Amino acid sequence: MALDEYRRKRDFSRTPEPEGAAARRNRRRQATTDGPEGYFCVQKHLASHLHYDLRLEHDGVLLSWAVPKGPSLQPADKRMAVRTEDHPCEYGSFEGVIPEGYGAGIVMLWDHGAWKPEVDDVGAALERGDLKFSLDGYKLKGSWALVRTRDRAGTAPRQRGRNWLLIKHADFWSGPIDITAVAPLSVKSEGDFDDILAADMPELWITGRPATAAGNGRAAALTREVIERAARKILARRG
Ligand code: MN
Repeated sequence: MALDEYRRKRDFSRTPEPEGAAARRNRRRQATTDGPEGYFCVQKHLASHLHYDLRLEHDGVLLSWAVPKGPSLQPADKRMAVRTEDHPCEYGSFEGVIPEGYGAGIVMLWDHGAWKPEVDDVGAALERGDLKFSLDGYKLKGSWALVRTRDRAGTAPRQRGRNWLLIKHADFWSGPIDITAVAPLSVKSEGDFDDILAADMPELWITGRPATAAGNGRAAALTREVIERAARKILARRG
């Protein structure tokens, strides 16, 4: 699947998000139950609304769902998950500030690890709207499902087919633990949103690869001042 929608929404001269040029070079063969495990992550994203972006590496991109309430370890909690555009694989380790534009806010790497489909054909499962899979992260483990829901009457055409539910299957790793409350911090920096903002040199991603403000001309344009201005806006909105 192409990253056209991801790229269309972003001006890469103005955001530290990766452009995803390497994703095409890094195309994997389709995973199966017997195949290799793929990378997964959950990025806690403080944008216009706080949400958790679940991303599953598949066929050279990160399949993505925005989960407003975040994942739940309780099978009875069916968490709304809105399918969003595929993201480049390099985005999966990104933690930092998106100063402006689409998704402007702070991104925290809330969990990551390996995922494995529990179906033979991921593409067919997505078509069918029923993807069973297992996660092996720091916070999320065991068996899960993403199930597409019927569109309500009056759903706008571009939103049709985007509404899914994220459901934990009952297993050793399910239970009455409020995982987003119990484990709210980054698995990368161990910090909260404020710590990510307060970092001396926030992590930057420029056109698909990591960069430092000192070593990259475009990154240098993202001065401390730009980031602080963005941070003030973001925190004002949260307050
Ligand atoms: Mn997001």
